Amino acid sequence: MIPYGRQDISETDIEAVVEVLRSDFITQGPVVPRFEQAVASLCGAKHAIAVSSATAALHIACLSLGVSNGDIVWTSPITFVASANCALYCGAQIDFIDIDSETSNISVSALEERLLAAERDGLLPKVVIPVHFAGLSCDMQSIAGLARRFNFKIIEDASHAIGGKYLEEPIGSGRFSDITVFSFHPVKVITTGEGGMLLTNSGQLEAKLRLIRSHGITRDEKLMTGKSEGPWYYQQIDLGFNYRMTDLQAALGLSQLERLDEFVRRRHEIATYYDNKLSELPLKILARNHDSHSALHLYVVRLQPQRVRRSHREIFESLRNSGIGVNLHYIPVYLQPYYAKLGFAPGYCPKAEEYYSEAISLPMYPAMTQDQQDEVVKVLREALYE
Ligand SMILES: *Cc1c(COP(=O)(O)O)cnc(C)c1O
Repeated sequence: MIPYGRQDISETDIEAVVEVLRSDFITQGPVVPRFEQAVASLCGAKHAIAVSSATAALHIACLSLGVSNGDIVWTSPITFVASANCALYCGAQIDFIDIDSETSNISVSALEERLLAAERDGLLPKVVIPVHFAGLSCDMQSIAGLARRFNFKIIEDASHAIGGKYLEEPIGSGRFSDITVFSFHPVKVITTGEGGMLLTNSGQLEAKLRLIRSHGITRDEKLMTGKSEGPWYYQQIDLGFNYRMTDLQAALGLSQLERLDEFVRRRHEIATYYDNKLSELPLKILARNHDSHSALHLYVVRLQPQRVRRSHREIFESLRNSGIGVNLHYIPVYLQPYYAKLGFAPGYCPKAEEYYSEAISLPMYPAMTQDQQDEVVKVLREALYE
């Protein structure tokens, strides 16, 4: 099976991890801060906070912005469930804004329309979470304009997008948001096994994020109530979690970061090859590039249903049965049974549902060979015309 994505681990990556294994610390040592500084400087952000996953990052991002009971958070339906669950963890309500059919990112016009209605009803969101789908930045300039007008905070879910650019700046610079989140899960652009990172330019948010990443515990006397009782002393001053990244993971991440540009370059090479080979087929290809350089985490095609006789499912199954590990990113989150229980029903975001009925993610990862790509194209062509 040619997988839809896979990590690319070099001997240098392995040596970096082994070096940590032989050192004094395998967690909470010197490598996590080095990895944090490397990602912050790569992105041009003031602060980076490493955590155990992007899911953990999204959770504490919401908490640090004060999301709680009675608040409302909005995101895109075409995302992994974690982009929405983070609001529910905080006791807030979640709602979904339909996508733009060209990019599959949140639709700015739909967002503006919903904001105007929400303003009339007194139900404005506290936080909006745009998701840079497949690595292509959302229209952040417009979303930031809406944030100023309607007074909400922005968390960029950039789980797909490390290494991408928007308006010539690295995604993660924080120019148009409060917090940006990266994921380092093995299928993503670079990996730490499990892992995530938050970026922010706010010192206040950084302090809060660091505190709740590790139980809400501090050893800083300035933050304590009363005086320290001795060198052993620490205080829990907030309710936090153990969302820390280990030095083992950070060593892998730091080593992978060296090849980030190469990974993204290779993804563009593969995508361009697909673009050319697939141009005659009854498919639509996700838009990229506008004002952005996508990190190209995914290569998604959409069927043109009026031009194919077989169903989406038949084509998908025939690809899988022929050894092509295609996938579908994503099922609109609100169609999940858990979300149906919260009152969401089919038909809520028609463009997201139309996308879901047509989309297929083709295999793409840096070490993919041309033969493997040709195999994907051949099997896809057969599956479409069978
Ligand atoms: C992968 C992913 C997450 C969750 O990342 P983890 O690191 O696996 O917790 C969140 N949002 C999106 C869009 C993702 O693709």
